[in-house]
Amino acid sequence: MSAYQSILLAVDFSTQDDYVAKRAKYLAETFNAELRIIHVLDNIPMPDTPYGTVIALDGNSSYSLLETEKNKLRKIADQLEIDPMRRRLVWGEPKQEIIQLAAQEKVDLIIVGSHGRHGLAMLLGSTANDVLYYAKCDVLAVRLQEN
Ligand code: AMP
Repeated sequence: MSAYQSILLAVDFSTQDDYVAKRAKYLAETFNAELRIIHVLDNIPMPDTPYGTVIALDGNSSYSLLETEKNKLRKIADQLEIDPMRRRLVWGEPKQEIIQLAAQEKVDLIIVGSHGRHGLAMLLGSTANDVLYYAKCDVLAVRLQEN
């Protein structure tokens, strides 16, 4: 059996990312594997106004959202010392983009949190569950608890 050579860490910028990221770093070092990181932009800000909830679609707010997300990814990736060529920020559906990137880059281990921004209501979050189900490579769901 060969060691993992390419590991993909999926982060959703929830408060528990840090814990999952540390596991990914540890495994990448242990296996001397390349570490990649992905965040999928799947949320559009919907501020409440006196007229109800409005989807902000003007260029400026999309631009500042993108800059904020880029900075979050840069911060985590810098801490993990991930090569800039191995960082991905894409628009789309998280499970689909994570699985597609893993296949394109011949990743042999995907690491996700057992739960993310979408809460602890189920045994596994929906992204974690779908990645586990559809990915062609191994998937590690790092167990996250409420506290
Ligand atoms: P969920 O199943 O959505 O509760 O999230 C579980 C895990 O899936 C998170 O801890 C991340 O590892 C991954 N994940 C969820 N959403 C995203 C996203 N938008 N981009 C990258 N990874 C994500």
